[in-house]
Amino acid sequence: MTYATSIQCMHCKKIFSSELTLFACASCGGPLDILYNYEQIKRQIVNSVFLREPITHWKYSMFYPINQLDKIVTLQEGGTPLVPSVAKEDAKGSLFFKYEACNPTGVFKDRGTSVEITKAVELGIKEVACATTGNMGASVAAYAGRAGIKARIFIPNFASPIKIQQIKSYGATIIRAGKTYDDAHAKVRALRQQKHIYLAGDYAHRAEGQKSVGFEIVDQLNWQPPSAIVMPVGNGVLFSAVYKAMCELKIVGLIKKLPRLIAVQAKGCNPIVQAYRNKKKIITPQPKAKTLATAILCGNPLEGERVLEAIRATKGTAVSVSDQEMLLAQKQLGKQGLFAELSSTASYAGVHKLGLHHQNKGPVVCVLTGHGLKDISIKKL
Ligand SMILES: [Zn+2]
Repeated sequence: MTYATSIQCMHCKKIFSSELTLFACASCGGPLDILYNYEQIKRQIVNSVFLREPITHWKYSMFYPINQLDKIVTLQEGGTPLVPSVAKEDAKGSLFFKYEACNPTGVFKDRGTSVEITKAVELGIKEVACATTGNMGASVAAYAGRAGIKARIFIPNFASPIKIQQIKSYGATIIRAGKTYDDAHAKVRALRQQKHIYLAGDYAHRAEGQKSVGFEIVDQLNWQPPSAIVMPVGNGVLFSAVYKAMCELKIVGLIKKLPRLIAVQAKGCNPIVQAYRNKKKIITPQPKAKTLATAILCGNPLEGERVLEAIRATKGTAVSVSDQEMLLAQKQLGKQGLFAELSSTASYAGVHKLGLHHQNKGPVVCVLTGHGLKDISIKKL
């Protein structure tokens, strides 16, 4: 059973049944959030051995909108390592890497995909469609294959050939969909009315699955929140999901204080940083955005406004790093035995830029979102 009670529009606040297949508010088109009965979750936690169970993505299923836990679609995602930094330059602080490369398709997105494809199966759906810069498409293709349902993956022209090869290897259909992620996303959105197709991607169910990055970090630190969590930001779904996870842990009494949430974007694609700096609540899209870090190349971030809200609520911040700074961070991580995709290294570059590696206010966690093998075509320094 699930503790999810309903779906709410984040703009007009209208409430819908949690059993509806919705990708946007049926009234105003706004983004959706899943609501839960946290009192029941709290009772469940008190009455179980939950806190001591081994760390896996599905350990936190009470915070997911899934009814049939005996029918989940899983490749045993999550449970990724929290590795301390051993770099000399980080010696004064207490810096950890959440190494998401250890997920089944090499990227954090498998957590959201597992929840999303499980939900699609629960709803009786036989086909999914997804817009992607590559990583999400590979993840959706893998889990759809696992569930025995068809996947149509819409991908912009700049996507890495390795990611395309990975998507193909899972048996999905690839559709080339223009120059940008937004072009691909528009094509998928147009399928919204076709009831037999489930839109995988940056919608409410995926965000619920991405929360486990946050749950695991706190669990791995013996149920103490770190002082800060630093994340690369493209569309902002991971960032807002980790924010929701922290708020939920606070509501059910597992943590007392929210960690600072820090967003790092590429200098060539930084609409959230710009809005944060200019104290704006809405995002001005950057249609001509450009960076070598293609996994965070989203000039019009879907969750931009929620990211801004999360930064403000946690007294976090937003910072841009150049492609050169990310390439340097990638090199520094490699020397510690961690090969991360260039976009992933934005978080580590951001830590150095903000001087967080020198602070000793408590652990800082730097999320490395994907594996370096995901994109080896990028020019080196
Ligand atoms: Zn609405």
